[in-house]
Amino acid sequence: EVELKHIHKNFGTFKASDDVNLTVEKGKLIGLLGPSGSGKTTILRMIAGLEHPDSGDIFIAGKRVNDLPAGRRGIGFVFQNYALFRHMTVRENIAFGLKVQKVPPKEIKARVDKLVELIGLAEFDGRYPQQLSGGQRQRVAFARALAPEPELLLLDEPFAAIDAKVRKELRQWLRATIHQLGITSIFVTHDQDEAVEVADDIIITNHGHVEQAGPPAAIYQHPETPFVADFIGESV
Ligand code: ATP
Repeated sequence: EVELKHIHKNFGTFKASDDVNLTVEKGKLIGLLGPSGSGKTTILRMIAGLEHPDSGDIFIAGKRVNDLPAGRRGIGFVFQNYALFRHMTVRENIAFGLKVQKVPPKEIKARVDKLVELIGLAEFDGRYPQQLSGGQRQRVAFARALAPEPELLLLDEPFAAIDAKVRKELRQWLRATIHQLGITSIFVTHDQDEAVEVADDIIITNHGHVEQAGPPAAIYQHPETPFVADFIGESV
């Protein structure tokens, strides 16, 4: 479903991506895990088309997308700080992108009705972001990303701005909901517990490259590099 081949990306002399290779199968929920500055967000932004690799190829659903603009890659993006429109209600926030795309009003209503139900905020759909909790706001951001019916969902530290108690709940909810929808998703985190709890497979990054990829249990039982052994060892 998503494939990165020999991706290189420098910022000046700094190698943010240094020969990144990875494959994400359709329908999987993937955690990109690694220390701060290891290049996780850069990978996500290149898949989304918000950043361009210096070399290497990006494929989505078998199609090379390097030259496709961000808006035409069929990707939904959830940022860590919600980035909701403050002057718009829940319903208007979710509908916004659909209006821009000139989706017919009846279709917009039908999709938004379904989405507010999915995120459990049908009764709050007239509220403004500041009238919602952090977890609820992030669910609105999730619904807004899903509204255009993307092929692929990317989430950059989606739980980072949420307080600890709600975070745990939101993780479970997100995992269940993404599996229910069957949408291929990649989320960035530097939190190992989060990666293990939420992801089907984990991809561990370090200094701009992929150290190891696989199901959490396999990585914890058989770390393949000294870095991975050391990195996962820290939490024990
Ligand atoms: P974090 O967990 O801290 O967000 P990360 O693993 O997501 O880290 P990236 O955000 O991909 O890492 O950044 C990798 C490195 O590239 C960082 O050192 C960052 O300073 C640098 N970098 C990222 N974007 C740019 C940019 N537009 N210009 C210059 N340097 C950048």
